[in-house]
Amino acid sequence: MISVRDDLRALQGYHSAQVDVRIRLNTNESPEPPPTAFRDAMAAEVSNIEWNRYPDRAAVALREAIAESHSVDVAQVFVANGSNEVLQTVLLAYAGPGRTVATFEPTYQLHAQIARVTGATVVEGQRADDFTLDPNEVERVITGSQPHVVFLTSPNNPTGLVEPMERVRQILDLAPGLVVVDEAYAQFSDWSALELIDEDTPMVVTRTFSKTWSMAGARLGYLIGPSWLVAELDKVVLPYHLDAVKQIAGRLALRFASDMDDRVRQTVAERTRISSTLADLGTTVFPSGANFVLFRPDGHEGRAVWQGLVDRSVLIRDCSGWPRLANCLRVTVGTPDENSAFLDALGEVLADRSTRLQLSLQTSSETSLETSQNGADQ
Ligand SMILES: *Cc1c(COP(=O)(O)O)cnc(C)c1O
Repeated sequence: MISVRDDLRALQGYHSAQVDVRIRLNTNESPEPPPTAFRDAMAAEVSNIEWNRYPDRAAVALREAIAESHSVDVAQVFVANGSNEVLQTVLLAYAGPGRTVATFEPTYQLHAQIARVTGATVVEGQRADDFTLDPNEVERVITGSQPHVVFLTSPNNPTGLVEPMERVRQILDLAPGLVVVDEAYAQFSDWSALELIDEDTPMVVTRTFSKTWSMAGARLGYLIGPSWLVAELDKVVLPYHLDAVKQIAGRLALRFASDMDDRVRQTVAERTRISSTLADLGTTVFPSGANFVLFRPDGHEGRAVWQGLVDRSVLIRDCSGWPRLANCLRVTVGTPDENSAFLDALGEVLADRSTRLQLSLQTSSETSLETSQNGADQ
């Protein structure tokens, strides 16, 4: 029987538990649906689609709307089915066999995953214990491996940390190839690498409609970058990859930017409330510029705390078995009511002695979690 490519055999797929619970705060979506006016406008336009015809291959109207929203040229915009497909297209064009891709761990696991699927070699730099990126480590990795593509995620997932502009500039100075800044959560932070984009800089910034725009169901993402690079991506991506419905959805969503800004403000306020309550509950909280918070319930077993929350019908992300993230959990900022339910449930779980970490148990449980869960679970 035919077997899969040798280099893919050891690769694990992407996993995210989808448990049936009342409160789902595990995948960083917006807790609210798009505005009603968006749904109405969408329904009206969808009824006029010419279903027998292929969609606009270049998605011109959508690209123009995105370009206008960022004050860039339409030729600097590339759109695909979720920012994951944007990243895949970038890696098909600029990574592949014989090429090297650098990441700084822990970070979004799909960067390394997609790079490996294209056949590239991945070099993993390591963040410091507080998950900041040390300039010496940046220099060691980039000068040492001369990567064709370097990934940064800002704010980083799953840590929430915003990369300072000087770190992006340092990487641009050192990198011999392309720099990709994944800004899936940029609207929740206070600066964007978009201001560094120009035709002479080999850098792209990727964005998504999945998180801020309440449109995870539509699968739509894009990048802003030099027009010569966008032209290469247009060659690589499949013809007519963006269906007509999605092109309409993205274009109409951008008309509701001020509704989106209001939601972002509420999310940021709730993030502050969650972070300070988590600290009051005695957990270690990592500073976040995103719509989620990473925390470590010190003195408790992370996996048991996660299970205790599931038992109370609250689902968050269990990162406790991921490399470098022992005992860490990640919660998405939801509606104020959902957040209060999460915090109340966590208070109960932490008051319950059964999740306490026993010293004799600590080593063996962490080891077994790491061997069973190690991999691409993000
Ligand atoms: C969620 C996420 C994405 C995925 O975005 P899609 O547009 O839904 O494919 C990309 N990058 C990061 C860092 C994410 O957290």
